[in-house]
Amino acid sequence: MQILENISLKQYNTFGIEAKARFFCEVQSLEDLNQVLRLKGYPQKFILGGGSNMLITKDIDALVLFINLKGIRVIGETAQEVDIEVMAGENWHQLVLYTLSKNYGGIENLSLIPGNTGTAPIQNIGAYGVELKDVFIACEAVDCATAIPKTFSKTDCKFGYRDSFFKNEGKGKYIISSVQLRLQKVNHKLHTSYGAIEEELRAMGIVKPTIKDISNAVIRIRRHKLPDPKDLGNSGSFFKNPVLSKSAFLSFNNSYPEAPFYKVTADTYKIPAGWLIEQCGFKGKRYGDAGVHVKQALVIVNYGTATGAELLSLAERIQEKVMQTFGIAIATEVNIIK
Ligand SMILES: Cc1cc2nc3c(=O)[nH]c(=O)nc-3n(C[C@H](O)[C@H](O)[C@H](O)COP(=O)(O)OP(=O)(O)OC[C@H]3O[C@@H](n4cnc5c(N)ncnc54)[C@H](O)[C@@H]3O)c2cc1C
Repeated sequence: MQILENISLKQYNTFGIEAKARFFCEVQSLEDLNQVLRLKGYPQKFILGGGSNMLITKDIDALVLFINLKGIRVIGETAQEVDIEVMAGENWHQLVLYTLSKNYGGIENLSLIPGNTGTAPIQNIGAYGVELKDVFIACEAVDCATAIPKTFSKTDCKFGYRDSFFKNEGKGKYIISSVQLRLQKVNHKLHTSYGAIEEELRAMGIVKPTIKDISNAVIRIRRHKLPDPKDLGNSGSFFKNPVLSKSAFLSFNNSYPEAPFYKVTADTYKIPAGWLIEQCGFKGKRYGDAGVHVKQALVIVNYGTATGAELLSLAERIQEKVMQTFGIAIATEVNIIK
């Protein structure tokens, strides 16, 4: 285990932002993790996974711990289900492909989400009608202050819409080292009604889809809709879709009957943030190298040399305009590193 100094983080964040880590350490084993957390002289630690959900706005004056723990193992099995434990540094999409190769169902709708498996609980990753919490059993995390490991059950994680304990009270306090998931070996429960999955399956000529077909459909839709960070720096959806109370929704719906919405519960409604941003005229707009994607108003992009501060300033301008126009606050989904 080596502690490096003044390391560029450009390759380590999907926005492709140039920023430096004062200190940098690649954590490849649980022993490394234990050792590095006990080192004296580095009071500030910063946890880095795949860097696909962060906007770095300045150099990081801390010891950046790049979590690269690897390994997948089966920890329990019945005729119907299999429980697996996945180390935090395993790439999420590679994990999805692994589960498909074994015919384990449950995370096929979450295909092609960038980042690490250990980060998946932080915002309870979700797409196309499925969230991590649907297959989650527990995770192991190490307390940054004491280096003592702790198991977090599903209840402990307090999962919500792109939210968890680790994004709130537990923020920056624990490093997730592994995640346990329960997947289906037989009688896969298919989720095809969300988004354009059914339409894509039809276009692919598939009548009776398998989990692999669903994964392929999701991959095709995502490739068409979302920019690949390798080609255009971005962090996926920059904002969360706002959830309105029934009274706020009824008043909004009265003023904007054409606006799309999803009923979440009897008393709450979700409005697509992308629609609100598009109505404010930001879709496809570019300010220097900071812009809003041409196909998806929810995605802020770096055309090359935008700084984190420039991208943040654009995000704040969008939030203000949406508030002025609709009286609705849109929160960031991306972690802003200030
Ligand atoms: C093109 C694109 C599409 C996307 N689509 C989706 C989508 O459909 N659904 C979705 O939910 N997300 C989506 N995302 C967001 C992102 O992929 C996920 O949030 C992913 O889980 C982030 O993982 P990461 O390892 O890259 O996290 P990072 O960006 O490295 O870290 C995110 C936060 O978690 C903390 N962290 C990282 N690792 C750990 C750890 N082991 N323990 C504790 N804290 C940690 C970091 O300090 C940071 O605050 C998308 C992103 C992109 C670029």
